[in-house]
Amino acid sequence: MVMIERVVTGPLVPGNDMTDDSAMKYVPTIGLEVHVQLRTASKMFCACSTEFGAEPNTHVCPVCLGYPGAMPVMNGRAIELTVRTGLMIGSEISGFSKFDRKSYFYPDMPKNYQISQYDKPLCLGGEVEADDEGRLVRVRIHRIHLEEDVAKNMHFQSASGIDFNRAGTPLMEIVTEPDMHSAADAYAFLQALKQIVAYAGVSDCNLEEGNIRCDVNVSVCPESQSELGTKAEIKNMNTFKGVYSAVGYEIERQIAVLEGGGRVVQETRRWDPDREVTSSMRTKEDEHDYRYFPEPDLMPVVLDPLQVNSWKESLPEAPRARRERMVDAYGIPDYDAGVLAAERSVADFFEAAAKASNNPKAVSNWIMTEMLRLLSEANVSIEAIPVTPKALAGLVALVDAGRINSNTAKDVFAELFEQGGDPEVIVKEKGLLQVSDTDAIEAFADQAISENPQSVDDYRGGKKAALQFLVGQVMRLSRGKANPQMVAKLLAEKM
Ligand code: ADP
Ligand code: MG
Ligand code: ZN
Repeated sequence: MVMIERVVTGPLVPGNDMTDDSAMKYVPTIGLEVHVQLRTASKMFCACSTEFGAEPNTHVCPVCLGYPGAMPVMNGRAIELTVRTGLMIGSEISGFSKFDRKSYFYPDMPKNYQISQYDKPLCLGGEVEADDEGRLVRVRIHRIHLEEDVAKNMHFQSASGIDFNRAGTPLMEIVTEPDMHSAADAYAFLQALKQIVAYAGVSDCNLEEGNIRCDVNVSVCPESQSELGTKAEIKNMNTFKGVYSAVGYEIERQIAVLEGGGRVVQETRRWDPDREVTSSMRTKEDEHDYRYFPEPDLMPVVLDPLQVNSWKESLPEAPRARRERMVDAYGIPDYDAGVLAAERSVADFFEAAAKASNNPKAVSNWIMTEMLRLLSEANVSIEAIPVTPKALAGLVALVDAGRINSNTAKDVFAELFEQGGDPEVIVKEKGLLQVSDTDAIEAFADQAISENPQSVDDYRGGKKAALQFLVGQVMRLSRGKANPQMVAKLLAEKM
């Protein structure tokens, strides 16, 4: 099987590479339709709560249950959040936009149409820049529209049920141009999009709760061909890893079909995460005719340019711009900045601590290692813990001044993480200040030497590892407070 990974991403440009005629090369192409549940208190067209995890069918009313004649009332906040997303990615915001009925029959949607947007979406165009291990992935956005989520089917041993709590949740659909050319491109794009949406405060972006789901369109075509190949659409993926695997599988499957002399059929497929394969759900032939028509119970959305402008002015800095700025402002490596900027609250913490410290790289190290590890172990957000940016800066200063060693610092950090407080006070109260006083260390060194004659002989006989053992003994005698560099130096001198 032959496959190429395009280095440059973006719109497809036909290849003219005629140097390799040994095998056919294929260009995979991917376009995504990403559904993002918006962070609103109430649903898109009724006052029911959007809270996740409640008893089934407790957040329902005639509107979201689809009773005939129930009148929808538009949620203005959902419009705002969708427009904010468009502004974050440089979309053109439609001054005039409207809702339409998309007709289809399915048990999770008893009114037999979904209110969506057809020809007048809220946002048009835009672009997302993503990063795949230093490689720029640029994806143009086709449009963003707003619609309502459907109910959730639940299947049991001998019956199925429908939970309408999700029905009517505001759902923003972001449709990309077919600008991705590998599983890595799609993965990087989704990560970048998630960061943008989270920064803008538009969605909780909780994948476990199904806040972000996407349909994945994949095609392949011979490198020499200028038009795209026939696509298959993999429906309703809800993890980014799943998208990555499904894209990889689908590319290989389609290439195998072409290599075998067949043609790819346009169809909808489903991903089986256990077997890691896609399988056909339905072909395009029996695809629905949605019979779109304007929703007669809702007024068109006419946006006031002044309002749009004020939303634009209140947008946060985008994650990518922040990453670049943090590299410049604090002199930290691009890798660090990428990790720290991934989440807005983590970047806020870093910047506050870095400003209070004169060693931003050390602050970055603490956050990237200890902090993120402890946060993920405790499954809490950085806003919910008692350690302050100032305390972290103080801890860094204690280490830099040689007043505590790095092992002690880890213990102090763990204490700050649990209890908060001032590192200076903790260190004094617990008597953790590093012993750099030569007399004290000498006494411990003499004791270690006299208690371990074998190690001393080994060291003198050329076994350098014996020194490390003796350093360990001194550290133990000093209860971890000795300065390890000083200990090693002193021991070596004495032997
Ligand atoms: P459809 O009319 O079948 O829904 P659209 O033109 O609306 O197709 O595109 C839906 C999504 O599929 C978009 O994200 C688009 O970028 C992507 N797409 C369209 N054509 C292709 C293709 N040949 N290969 C991969 N993705 C494609
Ligand atoms: Mg479509
Ligand atoms: Zn309702």
